[in-house]
Amino acid sequence: MSLTVFGTICIDTIETPGGVVREGILGGSCTYFAAAASFFTPVRLVAAVGEDFPAEFEAQVKRFKGVDTRGLERRAGSKTFRWGGKYHENMDERDTTFTELGVLAEAPPKVPADYRDAKVLFLANSHPSVQADMLGEFPNRKLAVADTMDFWIDGARPELDALISKVDGLVLNFDEAEQFTGKRNPVTAGRMMLEAGPRFVIIKKGEHGCILVHRDGIAALPAFPAEDVVDPTGAGDSFAAGLMGSIAAGLEADPSMDPGSFEALRRACVQGTVIASFTIEDFSLDRLTKLTRAELNDRVRAFQSMLRVD
Ligand code: AMP
Repeated sequence: MSLTVFGTICIDTIETPGGVVREGILGGSCTYFAAAASFFTPVRLVAAVGEDFPAEFEAQVKRFKGVDTRGLERRAGSKTFRWGGKYHENMDERDTTFTELGVLAEAPPKVPADYRDAKVLFLANSHPSVQADMLGEFPNRKLAVADTMDFWIDGARPELDALISKVDGLVLNFDEAEQFTGKRNPVTAGRMMLEAGPRFVIIKKGEHGCILVHRDGIAALPAFPAEDVVDPTGAGDSFAAGLMGSIAAGLEADPSMDPGSFEALRRACVQGTVIASFTIEDFSLDRLTKLTRAELNDRVRAFQSMLRVD
């Protein structure tokens, strides 16, 4: 009953304050998600890259432990999706410097037949109409959650509206929630989005944590107070990975659980917050690929004790 993720595998160019530029590094919503979620449960990925995708990046993705990469399609004659991001001084806000869609403007990758039994599906950032099409590939799903970002809110709004009416949950950034609803208050924005159909919305506020707006309640969680922020790219995808990975592991242990319940999601946000705090300690996947289960467990315990208020 593996967790399955559909999203992008990308070649990124990242600029952080002080003029530090890292050109042509491995990124993508699916990449970060798969690497981070594999700490919790086996993951299957579905994504396409072009002919230009470096062999060493492909080897790196294939080395992720616990990640089934049979759904990674390398397409002859096509170009890999490329994206550039530049962070502001506060490291929380960023501008997209370029987006070259490449394979994202083509047909979606094929889903291997034996992935279809997935119970938990994450639609990482990608074109919302393709995200919606992917839902049809997983008829046995118990939980489907989608992510989106400014590029799609601007450029594919009708498709995004259609997607939201079909998923159980949505995760997005604070600014994106405002862009989507016109409401700056995240609770108001979250409630508006619930009216479109999902059971819950999680609004991420970078260093200020996240807010879960669910039909059954509202919860707020701070971010892990990280000291060493090198590159925030992939924090959102890693947060979603900890969330979905721990829910999928819980469902594996107890198939009768409700994976979209308020309580399950509230607890899973802790795992998401902690794994995201590792991703941002280095560029690309560099910190995640060195991370050990023991380090992750220690930080989860430290975070839980920080949250304790009697
Ligand atoms: P995050 O920092 O979690 O929002 O994720 C950043 C990753 O998403 C980067 O590695 C990019 O390659 C990827 N990305 C950027 N723009 C898009 C987009 N429009 N659609 C899908 N993935 C994107």
